[in-house]
Amino acid sequence: MKTREVIYEGKAKKMYRTDDENVLFVEYLDQVTALNGARKDEMIGKAELNNGISSFIFAWLQKQKIESHFLSKEGKTEQLVKKLEMIPLEIVLRNVAAGSFSKRFGIAQGTAIANPIIEFYYKADELDDPFINDDHVHYFSIATKEELATIRQMTLAINEKLQELFDLADLKLVDFKIEVGRTSEGTIVLADEISPDTCRLWDKKTNESLDKDVYRKKTGDLLAVYREVAKRLATIQEDK
Ligand code: ADP
Ligand code: UDP
Repeated sequence: MKTREVIYEGKAKKMYRTDDENVLFVEYLDQVTALNGARKDEMIGKAELNNGISSFIFAWLQKQKIESHFLSKEGKTEQLVKKLEMIPLEIVLRNVAAGSFSKRFGIAQGTAIANPIIEFYYKADELDDPFINDDHVHYFSIATKEELATIRQMTLAINEKLQELFDLADLKLVDFKIEVGRTSEGTIVLADEISPDTCRLWDKKTNESLDKDVYRKKTGDLLAVYREVAKRLATIQEDK
């Protein structure tokens, strides 16, 4: 890889400037974190797995007319993406109760949620990404009312497409987190990554977790389950 200037080093990826001011080079890292970075481990091979899975999903979503920052998969652990003005929200959609939702509302993990629930978290590590609502989004000028309506619509559309995709891989999409940003033309598009780091994926038949929960809960081998997700996605024809 030629020398490039790092503009941001996060918990899972490094972002580099390129010769084109509208394009970023993304390097996935062999690192896994939980509890907002308080727990951190090196995990050799995770970068390649997540870059492969996320690139496959973004390419597949683009074929389904979901616009995103994704331009190309470069090496094993790298991508080129459109540089966006990020909207500092973690947008979570839930199809099934799990994680913080089950804890906060005392709802048994695995309870189906008939109409998907969308939640917003303000992306600010120093505040521990607080749960916020539409009024906070407007008060803090994070996004306009129209943009928020677009974000909700996009998130629901992405959920439908992802559910179709994961179903083909015999996986249930329990919940996921996405991030979005504005292009230089002001259009809101999907950004960041979609991987077992950012989704809860359960085996359709056994409800076994095939995602980062195995690391969060120390119940399994993260690389083994990410490899299983990659293997299942690889069986899906790209033209489906
Ligand atoms: P974190 O910041 O949560 O530790 P990462 O290690 O995944 O996360 O870092 C990637 C960073 O790049 C995130 O802050 C994310 O919001 C940002 N990002 C993702 N896609 C783009 C993009 N297309 N343009 C600009 N920034 C992006
Ligand atoms: N999530 C994420 N990044 C975060 C927090 C959550 O990608 O910083 C994802 C997580 O993997 C899950 C969904 O968002 O798929 C909902 O997570 P939840 O709110 O239940 O939080 P957690 O249990 O991870 O604390």
